[in-house]
Amino acid sequence: MSDVLLDGCGRRIDYLRLSVTDRCDFRCVYCMAENMTFLPRAQVLGLEELYRVASIFVAQGARKIRLTGGEPLVRKGIVGLCEKIAALPGLRELVMTTNGSQLNKLAAPLARAGVRRLNISLDSLDPARFRAITRTGHLHQVLAGIEAAREAGFERIKLNVVVMKGRNADEVPDLVDFAIARGLDISFIEEMPLGEVGRERGESFCSSDEVRALIAERHALIDSAEHSGGPARYVRLKDHPQTRIGFISPHSHNFCATCNRVRLTVEGRLLLCLGHENSLDLRALLRRHPTSDAPILDAIHNALQRKPARHEFSSSGEVQVLRFMNASGG
Ligand code: SAM
Ligand code: SF4
Repeated sequence: MSDVLLDGCGRRIDYLRLSVTDRCDFRCVYCMAENMTFLPRAQVLGLEELYRVASIFVAQGARKIRLTGGEPLVRKGIVGLCEKIAALPGLRELVMTTNGSQLNKLAAPLARAGVRRLNISLDSLDPARFRAITRTGHLHQVLAGIEAAREAGFERIKLNVVVMKGRNADEVPDLVDFAIARGLDISFIEEMPLGEVGRERGESFCSSDEVRALIAERHALIDSAEHSGGPARYVRLKDHPQTRIGFISPHSHNFCATCNRVRLTVEGRLLLCLGHENSLDLRALLRRHPTSDAPILDAIHNALQRKPARHEFSSSGEVQVLRFMNASGG
């Protein structure tokens, strides 16, 4: 068996997105319904199991792991898990996506534990709008978290914005200026139809082309060839070349040919593609084979042969995948 992970299309899989919890202190309108039922503890992978999966992937050549959720920082023991994963020989980067609400106290411990970069979600700079989008979040907490992260010495910090017409699209240029002033990168994400969240998504859908036009009203843009093997395209600003601006357009499938990633849900389902339900039940395998990794590796190599060549999302807002984003490992 090969010691790198190759899928059925010959793509090398070296990036694992690991969801460490489906729980969250926010209820963002694009991600969750107002009333959510979370998974019972027994169905969720334990910290040891999460670590075991990470180590299996790193032993098979995974170079990057992103911890996400749900909100990864509400998982008890998260800093210790980061420390152990960051120390795996061969791993180049441990990174995390967070809503920032706990960063005021956790940014420094995470940096010390070996987390190299952070993505922090920030959809509005207006406290009332921020509250309306997140349903439970406080903007001032997240802003304090961003400051704590800036002081903690991460290699890079990137803001993530899900753009919705009628909610925050008009703030796009201000969010770009916020990022520039603080030396942060920023990515704008098209809303994806994941899970029934109790609102019509199609009418607020804002395409990356529209977001780009909004930024171009204030700044001259330079296209950049940088890419991450994922659904992001980047531009730089002529006047602020250090700021990287990303457009994450999951509706476009242009990037599928270079896809290098798989996701593990917190229930231990290895999702081969965000836009498909194809998966492997790793939790059952981990529990059936507590001391031998060989059968698990075998199953992962076989499952990768079924990784879809591409996904299709339509921008109508229709739900095509029943999972919620918080359960998908964002
Ligand atoms: N709780 C963390 C956070 O919000 O950053 C990490 C998990 S969250 C699911 C990961 C990313 O997915 C966030 O940037 C969030 O804005 C984005 N997201 C959630 N639901 C989405 C959806 N339906 N379409 C597009 N992006 C979504
Ligand atoms: Fe929580 Fe992140 Fe989903 Fe918002 S996007 S509800 S912060 S998991």
